[in-house]
Amino acid sequence: MADLRGRVGAGGYGPPVRVTIVTTLPDRRLLLVHAHPDDESIGTGSTMAHYAATGVHVTLVTCTLGEEGEIHVPALAQLAAAEADQLGGYRMGELAAACAALGVTDHRFLGGAGRYRDSGMMGLSTNEHPRAFWQADLDEAAGHLVEIMREVRPQVLITYDDNGFYGHPDHIQAHRVAMRAVELAATEGIAPAKVYWTAMPRSVLEAGLTHFAESSDNPFAGIEDLSELPFGSPDEEIAARIDATEQHAAKEGAMRAHATQIPATSWLYSIAGNFGAEFMGVEYFTLAMGEKGPGAGPYGWEDDLFAGLRVDGPDRAPVAVAGQR
Ligand SMILES: [Zn+2]
Repeated sequence: MADLRGRVGAGGYGPPVRVTIVTTLPDRRLLLVHAHPDDESIGTGSTMAHYAATGVHVTLVTCTLGEEGEIHVPALAQLAAAEADQLGGYRMGELAAACAALGVTDHRFLGGAGRYRDSGMMGLSTNEHPRAFWQADLDEAAGHLVEIMREVRPQVLITYDDNGFYGHPDHIQAHRVAMRAVELAATEGIAPAKVYWTAMPRSVLEAGLTHFAESSDNPFAGIEDLSELPFGSPDEEIAARIDATEQHAAKEGAMRAHATQIPATSWLYSIAGNFGAEFMGVEYFTLAMGEKGPGAGPYGWEDDLFAGLRVDGPDRAPVAVAGQR
């Protein structure tokens, strides 16, 4: 995808070798900040696959290795944090396979793999681990992200809302780090033009509640009212509906790559079978920063995260990054 041109100066025993690398990235660049391996696929897999397939440079930043996740593959049970504590390394492989399924080639871990540890669910002692992402120094963690922004210069950033979509400490922290990084990037004039948060419209949840009420495999079992759910946005607050139905199989493939986290029998797969490709393929976002582009329908939902942005004119953001080593 990237056009790499290298120029090598005098080498041998002469002056130090000077190499200039110019990387030219596509005009449109999308950055996603997620907490754990698997969040990218479950929450934004179709959107990532859609943009990767249409020539957008998609950069995924994952903040932790997901060391505290559950393990749904019996043969791998002893990788658990309380035993061999090898789950994080294993999940790097799952994430690589998921990215391959999504067609995403630019993936990084915030601060490098293993810098920040999965904090576990809110209130657990794992929140106190010295490397827990929940304990991260905000400016230091945001600084790692700004470095990536300097390199990639994304016009659009996706992360979670201030409740981390559903309250997990690492998701809340990913939100804080991403938003702080946007602030810091703005002081250098390189902030993304638009920042989106993942979202689920109330109307979609209501449809799900009704649809599954009689099902024995009901993901909403025990929920009587939508207000009991930790997520769900009024439809009028949604800014973008990305219909990437054509990528539903890529998203499902990416989710299956996270086999330790998502059992093959998960309702996520059966719901897709019942609801059709749209369940997997359509994802929603609220706009946290930037100007909403033109949209359609009663609430003017955008169908493209780059809507309203000028990315191919003469005043586009610089796409060439020169470096030395
Ligand atoms: Zn997560």
